[in-house]
Amino acid sequence: MNSDSTIDVSAPSLMGFMWRQEKHLRGYNIWRILSVVVITPFPVLTQMVVDAIPAKDTTLIFSLTGFWLLLLVLHLGTMYFAVESLATKMQVIFRELRAEVFYKINFMSFRFLDSTQAGKLLSKYSFDTNNIETTAIMGLTGVLPEILRSSLLILVLMWMNPWLGVIVLLAIPLFACARLLNFKEIERSNHLVRVARERMTGQANEYISAIKLVRGYGQEEEALRQVGDTSGSYSDERVYQTKLNQSLGYILFGAITLIMISATTLSAWLVIQDKMELGEMVALIGALPICLFPVSMIAQFSLQYLQGAESYISIKELLDSDSTEKWTGTRVIHEPQGVVEFDHVTFQYEAGKAAALKELDTVIRAGEHVALVGPSGSGKSTLVGLLLGFYGPNSGQIRIDGVPQHELSMQQFRQTCSIVMQDNILLSGSILDNIRFGKVTATMDEVREAVRHAYALDFIEALPDGFETVVGERGASLSGGQRQRIAIARALLRDPKILILDEATSALDYESEKAVQQAINYLAQGRTTITIAHRLSTVRKADRIMVLKQGSVEASGTWEELSSQDGSFKELLEAQD
Ligand code: ADP
Repeated sequence: MNSDSTIDVSAPSLMGFMWRQEKHLRGYNIWRILSVVVITPFPVLTQMVVDAIPAKDTTLIFSLTGFWLLLLVLHLGTMYFAVESLATKMQVIFRELRAEVFYKINFMSFRFLDSTQAGKLLSKYSFDTNNIETTAIMGLTGVLPEILRSSLLILVLMWMNPWLGVIVLLAIPLFACARLLNFKEIERSNHLVRVARERMTGQANEYISAIKLVRGYGQEEEALRQVGDTSGSYSDERVYQTKLNQSLGYILFGAITLIMISATTLSAWLVIQDKMELGEMVALIGALPICLFPVSMIAQFSLQYLQGAESYISIKELLDSDSTEKWTGTRVIHEPQGVVEFDHVTFQYEAGKAAALKELDTVIRAGEHVALVGPSGSGKSTLVGLLLGFYGPNSGQIRIDGVPQHELSMQQFRQTCSIVMQDNILLSGSILDNIRFGKVTATMDEVREAVRHAYALDFIEALPDGFETVVGERGASLSGGQRQRIAIARALLRDPKILILDEATSALDYESEKAVQQAINYLAQGRTTITIAHRLSTVRKADRIMVLKQGSVEASGTWEELSSQDGSFKELLEAQD
């Protein structure tokens, strides 16, 4: 977990979570309590003003009004400080909660990530945290002060005349009204809404990310139909949820109005019976809505609370999930050499399915360049995924410089590797930001050096904004070859001991291919390099070619050795001609 975080998300329920944030909200609470206390005498002032009418005591009325206004100013002033404090503190809490969620996602296992739509995680990150925030704000700014305000008012009314207290206490059974509705049903509905929302966001996110595929195939209608289906299911769940929530509103409005009517009639009768002063009745009628307000507020809040609670469950599911990477090693290799050993490694993605790698047993020497070839699905990417610890072997062991993978600090090990992928991901930001992602502390000189060796300096400097050129998400404004060279510069910048290349030259035109190949040759010098080769012509210079087939090494040797003997390599060569 993020060690800097001060947010405690261990509470099993949302109420507990909100309670545990108390230390962050002390400032707000003090100002808010003060703001409520200063308006408590309002009904007494109403009564005193009404009682002063028969004596025509205007001086008293004006003095009371002056005091009243003073209390109002104090109320507004304390409210101002309360809101100031809350707005800032709330954002501290929820920024940290989002950070916890994001940080956790970064450590989820690839088994989990492979089967979870990114949009679902996005829904947790943005919608659910926001929903909890709305609930917390409503509880803190609405419900708690209102309960305090009406409790104080009830005490004041009882002190003025016990009958006033009796009438107000009639409202208490209203609390039970909230229970009239089936909360279990609301909880169930909230859960269905949340699941439908995650499905909808997941689906929409997938189609937005794949927009080129959708347009390229002219399948906008089909995309709309599929996204529309999940959006429709979400709407259906929302309709039911809204109906359930609204029915509580009607019941409450009816009950509160009934109380108001009864209280007015009863107090009028008490005035006629000389059991109550007219001023007290006016004070009661004025105070009653304030006393009843929390009742309706609590009921309304309980609906928001149940939705917030569902969001909290959703976030807790992720934060408490143990579908994380299981690497717990801490060993750091201070002077890495780049020796990679696969010791009888077998790996299956799913139990019961065929192994994606079978008994792989090989040693890649420091500085050796190994090219992996073989038909699609033969296990090339799996081998690389295992080396980087994206998955753990089912049996056998991988060692780096003689250190078993499970003993290594995986994050530190990965920092000594660089990957250049087929479809290189550029993040939205400047070219400089993207290159520095390889080593955030790199100086400008180091960046330029890396860029020069990646054969990218000329084209970057030719851009109007040079290194500051902003590239869109996925680097959409650059050509394939340019993106590739930026990725190579990013890889070079960290001076890796182990380099993984998912060969991409097949997608490039001749000119770009030449530049990229030169850049790659430079990048690979003196490093252990593993290339996933898609075209055999580019692996001629590799020290060793490993031919994979259905997860097993079929043959291994230099180009000359393999091409001179019959077998799978020759078959591949012939197939490519
Ligand atoms: P290559 O890189 O040689 O094309 P892969 O290593 O991607 O092959 O795949 C090896 C085998 O593992 C294939 O049968 C493939 O279907 C399977 N496979 C790859 N990735 C996954 C995954 N994330 N979940 C389940 N099976 C997978």
